[in-house]
Amino acid sequence: MRSFKAIVSLSLVVAFSVTATFGQASHYDVAGMDTTTSACADFYQYANGGWLAANPIPAAYSAWGVANILNEKNRDVVHDILEAAAKNTAAKKGSNEQKVGDYYASCMDEAKVEADGLKPIQAELDLINKVTDQKSLQAEITHLHSYGFNALFGSGSNRDFKNASETIIGIFQGGLSLPTRDYYLKTDDRSKSIRDEFVKHVAKMFELMGDDSAKAASEAQAVMALETKLAGGSKAPVELRDPEKIYHRMPMTAVKDAAPAFDWMSYFQTVANSKADVNVATPDFFKVMNTELTATSIDDWKTYLRWNIINRTASGLAAKFVDEDFHFKGTVLQGSSENLPRWKRCVAGTDGAMGEALGAVYVQKAFPPAAKERALAMVRNLEAALKSDIAMLSWMSDATRKQAIVKLDAFLNKIGYPDKWRDYSALNVDRSSYQTNRFRVGKFNEDRDWAKVGKPVDRMEWGMTPPTVNAYYNPQNNEIVFPAGILQPPFFDPTADDALNYGGMGSVIGHEMTHGFDDQGSKYDPAGNLANWWSEADLKAFKERAGCIVNQFNNFEVEKGLNENGSLVQGESIADLGGLVVAYAAFQKAMEGKPRTNIDGFTPDQRFFLGYARGWATNMRPQLARVLVLQDPHPLAKFRVNGPLSNMPQFAAAFQCKDGDAMVRPEKDRCVIW
Ligand SMILES: [Zn+2]
Repeated sequence: MRSFKAIVSLSLVVAFSVTATFGQASHYDVAGMDTTTSACADFYQYANGGWLAANPIPAAYSAWGVANILNEKNRDVVHDILEAAAKNTAAKKGSNEQKVGDYYASCMDEAKVEADGLKPIQAELDLINKVTDQKSLQAEITHLHSYGFNALFGSGSNRDFKNASETIIGIFQGGLSLPTRDYYLKTDDRSKSIRDEFVKHVAKMFELMGDDSAKAASEAQAVMALETKLAGGSKAPVELRDPEKIYHRMPMTAVKDAAPAFDWMSYFQTVANSKADVNVATPDFFKVMNTELTATSIDDWKTYLRWNIINRTASGLAAKFVDEDFHFKGTVLQGSSENLPRWKRCVAGTDGAMGEALGAVYVQKAFPPAAKERALAMVRNLEAALKSDIAMLSWMSDATRKQAIVKLDAFLNKIGYPDKWRDYSALNVDRSSYQTNRFRVGKFNEDRDWAKVGKPVDRMEWGMTPPTVNAYYNPQNNEIVFPAGILQPPFFDPTADDALNYGGMGSVIGHEMTHGFDDQGSKYDPAGNLANWWSEADLKAFKERAGCIVNQFNNFEVEKGLNENGSLVQGESIADLGGLVVAYAAFQKAMEGKPRTNIDGFTPDQRFFLGYARGWATNMRPQLARVLVLQDPHPLAKFRVNGPLSNMPQFAAAFQCKDGDAMVRPEKDRCVIW
């Protein structure tokens, strides 16, 4: 389901991405500021310049921000849990402790991984070798899909966009190794050089698998040629943002028209064992896939499938594969010069594989019940603030306003961890081989996902594990979700003053709530169905206001020749601005009747904005910045601070900025939505 999840997170589930914290437990870290810069000229630099200068990016990272420090702390907690589980060889067979302990131990057993070489994937390579014709090729693609290796295209269970209580099947574009179609098709120097490096990397991998260099070079060309064809039929991330455009529901028997050369009925019978309807999300892609099934030779298809196996397993194999995999994905694409230490990769791998199995222990150690109560109280204050905000909006008619409030009242709030933990009893894990465990987890996840088709929706399911330092809004559940990982000091600190908590966590909560009303979320009704609840005039007024954000972000220059893509980042930017406005209003309400004392020479209002900005203090390598600007719906950190604040008169007043200052937009250019 990997590639489907990618589409979901682009188009439906909207995550907060990088997260915030505010220095010391109860004090703002003033040394992290750069007071030689004016707050009204560049607030990001003013609030964070000292921190940025004092915190260069470690070699193993492609970015280093305030959020990384909290991530590292969480990783240490999970690390202790996993070390203890791995040492406890007496854990009951089949228990979660045995499984997470064995999974982690199999990853840490570097000597075994090294001695095994290609052994853990040999059976899969042998199957590909046996492919001789279209029929056996398609059977092999289906087999790979059964454990989550979505070669060629993506598929999975799909909550019906227009009926959120029904789960059907979805198929969608996929099959690419580089992040998006642009990497294959753009003709600028940077894109060309990444393609050259990619072809070298694929050839190197084939050589490491034992092919001679001439054969490996021609195999790499074949992979590149086929993926370039698939890229030509793929949509760009910004085109996937509109749910109407990726909704083409049809009976299963009609899918053959999308790509007649593929035997869909056997495919669905094998992977899903279901006759449910299918959403063919990206029809143009399937036309290209249809052509290539017969236009590309069987030998080239076999090469492509072998590449899929090694590309997806390299990080779990012997060091030479890990190193070459990191060279391309870490160094060429993101600019890091060394890989993370093995234990950090193993902790992340185990959390990704069985996060809810270790989540219960994590929560006991790191998430006191009082934190859950306080976070919930804050969520309620923010919801009240958004409700009064909607009640006063000048541009919205009463009919639409009423519907907006119904939607807000219907929010499902999830805080800390799931009420019911995932059941891992069908998953077998032992210490025989790390990569074998990864295959098993892939199969377990596929089976679990396909089992949802045709069944009632479980609204209590979580999309992030408890230690995750992040948050999300899911329009199909109309829910806001805050894992325990983000709800702790220094990010959310019950001992800090309101200004810092509302500027930090408050703006995160407001951000997720506002996603329910951004350019995508506003298309879903309170029950999570893609259905219009806006009057025509209100929708027009909303789109004009969203267009203001698109324009502003189109003008932010990342480097020469590369600007933010306003259409791609508008949802996140609407949520940042809306989240700040609502958090500020809730903060003012919380301050009613309390003394407004200065701390470190700053007023409470100033500390609110300083707390917000510090959360985004991030150094980033230019390679990663380019990757993100091309595909990530979140703008870069600097623009997430200076963009929304320059629209807020509350900010200008707090720092006494004047008309004409860079951080103060002229009234005619100011974006106001929520
Ligand atoms: Zn977001």
